[in-house]
Amino acid sequence: MSVSTASLLDYDDVIARFDPVLGMEVHVELGTATKMFCGCPTEFGAEPNTQVCPVCLGMPGALPVVNAAAVESAVRIGLALHCAITPWGRFARKNYFYPDQPKNYQISQYDEPIATEGYLDVVLDDGSTWRVDIERAHMEEDTGKSLHVGGATGRIDGASHSLLDYNRAGVPLVEIVTKPIVGAGERAPEVARAYVTALRELIRELGVSDVRMDQGSLRCDANVSLMAKDATEFGTRTETKNVNSLKSVEVAVRYEMRRQAAVLLDGGEIVQETRHFQEADGTTSAGRRKETAEDYRYFPEPDLEPVAPDAAWIEELRATIPEAPWITRARIQKEWGWSDAVMRDVVNADALPLISATVDAGATPDAARSWWVAYLAQQANTLGVTLSDLSITPAQVARVAALVADRTLTNANARKVVDGVLAGEGDPDQVVEARGLAVVQDDSALEQAVADALAANPAIVEKIKAGKVQAAGALVGQVMKATKGQADPARVKELVLAACE
Ligand code: ADP
Ligand code: MG
Ligand code: ZN
Repeated sequence: MSVSTASLLDYDDVIARFDPVLGMEVHVELGTATKMFCGCPTEFGAEPNTQVCPVCLGMPGALPVVNAAAVESAVRIGLALHCAITPWGRFARKNYFYPDQPKNYQISQYDEPIATEGYLDVVLDDGSTWRVDIERAHMEEDTGKSLHVGGATGRIDGASHSLLDYNRAGVPLVEIVTKPIVGAGERAPEVARAYVTALRELIRELGVSDVRMDQGSLRCDANVSLMAKDATEFGTRTETKNVNSLKSVEVAVRYEMRRQAAVLLDGGEIVQETRHFQEADGTTSAGRRKETAEDYRYFPEPDLEPVAPDAAWIEELRATIPEAPWITRARIQKEWGWSDAVMRDVVNADALPLISATVDAGATPDAARSWWVAYLAQQANTLGVTLSDLSITPAQVARVAALVADRTLTNANARKVVDGVLAGEGDPDQVVEARGLAVVQDDSALEQAVADALAANPAIVEKIKAGKVQAAGALVGQVMKATKGQADPARVKELVLAACE
């Protein structure tokens, strides 16, 4: 049950009385072609139960085999987080029954995780840096998905029956767990959001996952507790599950702080439990009481070899770790001379990698930015897809920008070329050709239209002759109309002014 906003404490009062403690658990689905312990494909969105085999269905006698590509991705994540990589570590069975988990245990790592003791420096909204200490990153397999049918909410409550899809069962996951984050005070919700933002960016930069929160390939659980100002021990935490957007991370932490403070001030106790975040109203509601590690009866997985990455291989992988995106960003921002606000808009639009690629393909930074964050962002929004899902490449955008820069296209026609590319009509040059959008370069073709416009508007011509050069705009407009937008407006203006001399 969620608590009404009336029983939440004002945020300022929470901060005056309590210190929040956070712990973030982030699950990342790796983008490997096959599952963690079998050869089944991992692609998102397939027909239910078409990507399964005896291993990931937990059939008796089926034996798992470790996916080397998944181990490599996990090691690279660990290295990017400045962790120590374990030279030898076993998988463990985490035993619990849940219908979406056909083996009745999950293969995970317990006390011998692949990566331990790291950190991530995250940049807060005011530009300052907050260091989040990482406790561990471990490998495990994902569960299947339950679909509860017949209820109003899609929850099991009120459902008439449930369907199970095991396509996701066995997809490789890396779970990254922070140490308790203390001392953030009123900035705790912001730190939580900034941490997940930075982690997501870093992992995307590594190329090991598509980190799509909307598709569940990056999932975040937020542990929150409060300490009274004079307390010496952490309070009891709740774990808010599957907070599925960056904004929601911040909203969920803030809500949980306000809810717990109200309970504590009312003399109540915080129950150690999982809670569900409600996207619709930004509240959390109670889930299950939290198990402790003992409940899971972890033991070393007897069917798998230990993972023993050798030191030379780890060093090879270390050399593949890219610069952190926020460091790249600071460098790019300086190089391109953008303000903080411009940079923030670009980053919020998830457009920087696309803009960078467009610049690499020859566009100016400002032209590339204006295409991606203005016109293309609008198109993506209309189509309900992300920018990178649009069927236009940075190279194609750069080509359109080049055609504008060399005056082959007017801005209006450039947008039509982009529309054509998005509609699958081919490369920009093919669209220009097929739709006949190139600017008429030949002055002789324009001169008649200019002469007609002048003849039809003697009063304007007089004004221009008297020195009112701005008046030429109206004539340029008429010529553009007469040439169906295919003239270069700058050239038309030159011709108009020359004709009035
Ligand atoms: P679980 O198995 O219960 O999910 P984990 O160890 O995987 O536990 O994750 C717990 C997370 O909560 C870690 O990030 C840890 O640092 C953090 N944490 C531990 N104690 C507290 C506390 N009292 N308040 C807030 N966070 C906590
Ligand atoms: Mg956990
Ligand atoms: Zn399988």
